[in-house]
Amino acid sequence: MHPALPPLPRLSLAQLPTPAMPLRRLLPALLPGAPVPELWVKRDDLTGAALSGNKVRKLELLLAEAVARGADTVITCGGLQSNHCRATALAAAQLGLRSVLLLRTADPTAPPPLEGNVLLDRLAGAELRLVSPAQYRDRASLLSALRQELAQAGRSAYLIPEGGSNALGALAYARCVAELQAQLPPGPWTLCCAVGSGGTLAGLLLGVALAGLPWRVVGFAVCDDRAHFVRIVGELLDEIARRFQLPQAAELARRQDAIELRDHSVGRGYALSRPQELAVLRDACRLEGLVLDPVYTGKALHGLVEELRQDPASLGPRLLFVHTGGLFGLFPRGAELAPLLD
Ligand SMILES: *Cc1c(COP(=O)(O)O)cnc(C)c1O
Repeated sequence: MHPALPPLPRLSLAQLPTPAMPLRRLLPALLPGAPVPELWVKRDDLTGAALSGNKVRKLELLLAEAVARGADTVITCGGLQSNHCRATALAAAQLGLRSVLLLRTADPTAPPPLEGNVLLDRLAGAELRLVSPAQYRDRASLLSALRQELAQAGRSAYLIPEGGSNALGALAYARCVAELQAQLPPGPWTLCCAVGSGGTLAGLLLGVALAGLPWRVVGFAVCDDRAHFVRIVGELLDEIARRFQLPQAAELARRQDAIELRDHSVGRGYALSRPQELAVLRDACRLEGLVLDPVYTGKALHGLVEELRQDPASLGPRLLFVHTGGLFGLFPRGAELAPLLD
């Protein structure tokens, strides 16, 4: 437990601590001749098997609150192949709760192929509500309408926002900093992670600040742009400050220069890959036996490598890449990967 964090009711859903380990071959192979930094990986893809990835840490706190409030159903939302929705559906099943998932898809009238995360959602018994990208923009009102609909049927639903990224969910990654502190050799480190809804980045930033560590945190966006995420992370930190009386979080939110966010990693857009991103994903597997996903971790690691290609010193001497999971997003993408596998 982090000394500066408030005591947080928590369910044990994740296999913790996840390992942190050096990756010795990847950067020297991808950036031959350059003086590359040391690279480690935090294996948050190993928080579980099916119930895996970064969302499980957030769900430990969020679902503890759901259970304490006597909820019988959990509602959340995301893209069709959302890792967060899949983790929520599986965790709900584990706790004897029902789940309803609002999923964004190009054509809501077409039944989605039963593959990747959607297959697991259905296997776990989640009720899927498909909506178009235009409808999804108004997800906040769709979610509360859904909660009312369930209330009329006598059910009590707990609402989790996209990515589990609210004040409570984000604190899970502030807690994770204490875990890292016990695992990493002392001295300066730069934590690097993919950014999708901002909760992981906001939590890590806060955890590092509260612990007074000489660490940087750099987020690599997988969608949207820098301005968007600087605002989102600032809002999350302000929400944490208000809800948990942590003035340090509000201070961080005001210091926007502390929020290091890269958006060159976005590429073609959310869940769309460029061949060079898939090549880094392949190389991580071939050189380190590390399986990344195309939507988040492959994109973020590619962004990191590209930044080092420009300036090998820009991120500092020792990097920790947080592997946030996403394995099931790989399986629907075999055809796209095939040309890179010779
Ligand atoms: C959701 C997700 C992220 C992004 O985390 P946020 O806290 O939403 O920014 C990164 N990697 C994977 C695999 C994810 O599922």
